[in-house]
Amino acid sequence: MLTSFDSFGLHSALLKALQNKAYAQPTPIQQSAIPEALAGKDVLASAQTGSGKTAAFVLPILQQLAEQTLFSPRRTLALVLVPTRELAMQVGEVFKQLGHHLPQAVQITTLFGGVSINPQMMRLRGGSDVVVATPGRLLDLVDRNALSLAHVETLVLDEADRLLDMGFALELERILSLIPAKRQSLFFSATFPTTVQQLANTLLLEPVRIDVQPEVENAADITQRAVLVDAANRTQLLRHLVEQNKWARVLVFVATKHAAEMVAVKLRKARINAEPFHGEQSQGKRVQVLADFKASRLTVVVATDVAARGLDIASLPVVVNFDLPRSAVDYTHRIGRTGRAGEQGLAISFVSSDTQAHWQLIQKRQAANTPHVTLDLVAGFEPQDAPLEVSFSNGGIKGKRPSKKDKLRAAAAAQS
Ligand code: AMP
Repeated sequence: MLTSFDSFGLHSALLKALQNKAYAQPTPIQQSAIPEALAGKDVLASAQTGSGKTAAFVLPILQQLAEQTLFSPRRTLALVLVPTRELAMQVGEVFKQLGHHLPQAVQITTLFGGVSINPQMMRLRGGSDVVVATPGRLLDLVDRNALSLAHVETLVLDEADRLLDMGFALELERILSLIPAKRQSLFFSATFPTTVQQLANTLLLEPVRIDVQPEVENAADITQRAVLVDAANRTQLLRHLVEQNKWARVLVFVATKHAAEMVAVKLRKARINAEPFHGEQSQGKRVQVLADFKASRLTVVVATDVAARGLDIASLPVVVNFDLPRSAVDYTHRIGRTGRAGEQGLAISFVSSDTQAHWQLIQKRQAANTPHVTLDLVAGFEPQDAPLEVSFSNGGIKGKRPSKKDKLRAAAAAQS
């Protein structure tokens, strides 16, 4: 049984903000993490996007700030490190929304790369109580003496696995050397491979471990499907599915920026409102695409993994893996974009004959409690480029592609 937010002893201004956001009850991660964080303990939480993890660290930080007199010029007392600019913006926004009614204004600054550094330096002039940042840009600003990390009392690593995946290990090491050893650290990660565990060990002091749900159990509200289709027919299939199911909002994942552009162009030709979303677009363009998607002016956003990381779009009913993700971890992150905050979600993966083995590997690496996803066919899109032997057994399709040798033998047999 979940208790209410009232039981945490939060400032009335925070409770008012929660009411405005219509958060009636804490999510399980909030339920577990908020009291521990408020008590000043280090926290090691296994939590995915969609679990409500952001408010789980934002609320205790705002509460702690509300309880003390803030300095002028402001000192950075809380530092939140995130892997991408989108996540930085989202987390910054949650801080602003939840901190809005506090009697003592809290200065929150969001810092990320890919945009001009000067406005960020200007914004930091009077100091900032809370800084939400991607590691590279943060260090650039520290190197330019635009801010000091010497007073940080609370450090948050959000999506720590992704921070490491994106190659931020050295930056993290440097940032850790710049903040006081005596501090509170809150560590959030969806997955815990050895590297993430090692980072947690160096960072945390006797942490309270919070493991609200095993990795993909979170996906309980997500129906997973896989469709076998020839690679060349995927855009047509996507178009068919969007039209037939009257999907109003679909996030489509592709492997490259080029593919994002191409698929979006093809969909637009079919009069489906689609835009690409990838790291080579200007920040302005990405913000615009996101706003249009949220406001239902776009039906489909075709995104690369890096760009889509941390996207928080309420009510995203469908995610399509047009290209399969590289790893099972990426698969989990991708499908976690749908079925958020208790809503129903659907994740569909397109599998072609040449990616079938990779699909099986992704399946194998999924948590043991994840239901096995069988390969379906969609009428009119049955693959021509199918495996030689396709048999339906146990609901799945087993296949064997002809090897070069098989093809030569078949050709020789045909001639004889
Ligand atoms: P997060 O995992 O922090 O990205 O949050 C996922 C989504 O859940 C966001 O859209 C939040 O606005 C929403 N959310 C977070 N906490 C709650 C809550 N206690 N009740 C309802 N929705 C929530």
